Amino acid sequence: MNQKLAIVSAIFCAFVTTIFFIMVTDGVVGIRYVQIEEHLTGYSYLVEQTKNYTVVSQHNVFTNGLAIGGAFALALTLLFIYLANGRKTILLLCGYFLFRALILTVLLGVNITVFLPNFYQLQSVDIPSLVLLSELFLLWFITLLFRLRKDYKKLFVITKSICWALLLYLPVSFILSIKVTFHISVIIELILNFVLLGIGVYLIKKSQRLAVLYTVLIVIQLIFSALNIVSLFWYNLDIYSDSPYLYSSSFWLTGCITVFTLSRGYYYQIQDKQIAELKALASLEKSKKAQADLLILQEENQEQLESRVQERTLELNIALQELEEANKELAEKNTLDELTGLYNRRYYDQKVVAEHRRSRRNLTPLSLVVIDIDHFKNVNDTYGHLAGDECLVWVAKKIKASLGRVTDLGCRYGGEEFCLILPETDTKGAIALAESLRASIAAQPVPFQSIEIPLTISCGVSTYWQQPDVMPADIFAAADQALYSAKENGRNQVQKKSLVDTLKS
Ligand code: GH3
Ligand code: MG
Ligand code: MG
Repeated sequence: MNQKLAIVSAIFCAFVTTIFFIMVTDGVVGIRYVQIEEHLTGYSYLVEQTKNYTVVSQHNVFTNGLAIGGAFALALTLLFIYLANGRKTILLLCGYFLFRALILTVLLGVNITVFLPNFYQLQSVDIPSLVLLSELFLLWFITLLFRLRKDYKKLFVITKSICWALLLYLPVSFILSIKVTFHISVIIELILNFVLLGIGVYLIKKSQRLAVLYTVLIVIQLIFSALNIVSLFWYNLDIYSDSPYLYSSSFWLTGCITVFTLSRGYYYQIQDKQIAELKALASLEKSKKAQADLLILQEENQEQLESRVQERTLELNIALQELEEANKELAEKNTLDELTGLYNRRYYDQKVVAEHRRSRRNLTPLSLVVIDIDHFKNVNDTYGHLAGDECLVWVAKKIKASLGRVTDLGCRYGGEEFCLILPETDTKGAIALAESLRASIAAQPVPFQSIEIPLTISCGVSTYWQQPDVMPADIFAAADQALYSAKENGRNQVQKKSLVDTLKS
């Protein structure tokens, strides 16, 4: 059921019940009996039908109907609200008001004998039972409203025990005599009101938001209960002559305050919910921001990491390049002679084998020129070793200059001996090259400091040209023999030696 329908239904029922009770009470003006002998004014019908009774004045009929009808309408309204929102507290409050309305009905004279005049014995149970039941519902309502089970465990134990006690006493009240039941129910009502007041004070001390409102409600209820009791037991004091007004107003006042308390309860609940929602929203925002910050941090870290990786990669590449260069340098150093810059003996050994193979494969000639500086020992002895070294460098420079082809190779064979590898060069060509080298060295003395050192070389040439069973060492040996001949013949000259001759000898 939706809220609007509940409100419309409640208004309709309030109207109908009010009219109904106005009509009902119209005919029962004389029902409120008084039995002076029993000192139970207003409830004399509890004992038996009696002759002495007070007649409710005629002008109260409308008021009574309005009060009772209104009280029932309140209960019904709450019932419809409960059907609309399903809240248990509303149902309990509905029960409470229903029983309060019934008590009011009885107090205003519309007791059960109006409808069942021949079962006046039933009158003995109505007031005590209704009081017990209404108090039961009120207690239960308070237990839920203040969430005693969760927040105030001790109070919950008390209210729960009282509820059970009331429930257990209820059937007992049917057995007990009318007078005893009546007295007990009055005592129960008083005690319960004091207990409820105690709960209120306790909750105020605990700063419960609804506690003050609730305590005011209990105090009012207590005052009216006390006034009722006094007016019933000591009717002759004539504290107030027109009790129907008291009943109606007390019921309506407590009703209004109860409903107000309930509404405040819901108001606080909604407020709490809103605050909780706001808090949740704030924390959500906070966590979102934290996530965003984390993301930025992660991105920054990623960028930092990437740039570091790039840096390291660059450094690594540079290191690799340097390593490559160093290796190259090392390789070059391994193949070059430090003093002259010509290829060294090791390189010569590798290269001569390779060139020999190439020559064999390509059917091309390969010539070797072995060079030795003449009387070099004398140079060292005369000018010193530094001068000797300078001469070696000078000769190397001349050798480099003499090599015309890229395939020609000049090596320092050892000491003051050099060797030229001349691929695709026949004996004639090799002799020409050697001769030109010899002539150029002989023509220009080596400048060293302020002096000039005259220098000559002797050369031995041999050429490999597909002779069978010839190894690189054989070619060198032939060239060396030619060199020896050059030395023998007076130095500063070029001699050749045929490979065939060498192999024969
Ligand atoms: P020839 O060859 O004309 O018969 O006489 P030579 O004096 O050149 O003969 P020998 O082979 O006996 O002498 C070679 C000398 O070369 C010995 C050594 O002092 C010198 N020599 C060898 N290597 C180096 C070097 O790297 N630096 C210098 N300064 N001298 C060297
Ligand atoms: Mg020598
Ligand atoms: Mg020499």
